[in-house]
Amino acid sequence: MNERVNLTGFHPAELAQFVATLGEPAYRGRQIFAALQHRRLQSFGQMTDLPKGLRERLNQIATASTLTVESRYISEDGTRRFLMKTHDNFPVETVFIPEEHRDTICFSSQSGCPLQCTFCLTAQLGLLRSLTAGEIAEQIIIALNDVYGVGVKPPHCVNLVGMGAGEPFLNFDELIKALRVMADPQGLFIVPNRVTISTAGVVPRILELATLPDRPHLAISLGAPTNEQRNELMPINKKWPLDELLSACKEFEKTLQAGERFTFEYVMLDGVNDSDQHARQLANLLNRHELRAKVNLIPHNPADPLPYQPSPAERVTQFQSILDSKGVRSFVRRPRGRDIFAACGQLAARGAINSIQNTARSVLAHVN
Ligand code: SAH
Repeated sequence: MNERVNLTGFHPAELAQFVATLGEPAYRGRQIFAALQHRRLQSFGQMTDLPKGLRERLNQIATASTLTVESRYISEDGTRRFLMKTHDNFPVETVFIPEEHRDTICFSSQSGCPLQCTFCLTAQLGLLRSLTAGEIAEQIIIALNDVYGVGVKPPHCVNLVGMGAGEPFLNFDELIKALRVMADPQGLFIVPNRVTISTAGVVPRILELATLPDRPHLAISLGAPTNEQRNELMPINKKWPLDELLSACKEFEKTLQAGERFTFEYVMLDGVNDSDQHARQLANLLNRHELRAKVNLIPHNPADPLPYQPSPAERVTQFQSILDSKGVRSFVRRPRGRDIFAACGQLAARGAINSIQNTARSVLAHVN
């Protein structure tokens, strides 16, 4: 057990208080914040602008890093998946996705996940534990340092998506705290406008998010157009059924800025939820609630032992044209990092052996 306090989840005001308890002036707090979040240093020893005595004291009572990278997998498309562990040995996965003009980092909010969506591999882990704000922020620090070098400014803008393992809205307070730390201009400076959080539909937190002035963008995982089918595929629907969920979305919609849309994600499972009728039901559902939304169609990322296959490309196109004919905008999401088990719904702490068996081409690099 690590009893030392992890400073990566502290925002500047908390660090000011923390250094005050050590009898240090407030500017030391700002120095530590910049060292952790802007220079992305992961040990106090590297913070040579702090007096040696203070560094030693910090080493005794605090940590600048709590996650350890166990393995790193690099996809043929450049996507990197980091399998990390917490100080108490729970798996944490983070995915770095390079695109032409921006990078996206997909972070986890929990180790494992308590929801039991039948198409998602993470569900098979169950909930191991929720992550702290520090553990959430540190995932981004580790990914950026790995790709660009310690403290090096990323050449592109960085977007975050809370679509890794876990249900972010079942870890709401730590999530919001982490987002505020990461948004600080003296630190990572990743503002809410660059962040999208995906939820399976925790209605009270959707409503709470709507009240926050510094909220990120929202995505809702739909997965099925009827309660009957959604109950089967995403059991959370029994607690918050579609009408309640979409009414909450309607409330949330009031807070959208000009041009902002929120996103529905629809995982496409071959022969399960991808028929013409499903497309019509989905369009009717969204139209009935008069939602200004777009739909991301995500062909299922297959993962043994999940009993699904992705819908064939022609089916996806046909589904999309039905949505289109009913005025619902949709996009087909290109899967990234499937070969290294980094794509949506594939995060389940797969270790080296599984991954090597599943792809001959991905490069496996042990970091430590
Ligand atoms: N718990 C949150 C965030 C994690 S899932 C949520 O449910 O939104 C992120 C997205 O991946 C969700 O939209 C989910 O529907 C989708 N997903 C899960 N498993 C998948 C799979 N095997 N293939 C494709 N998408 C999947």
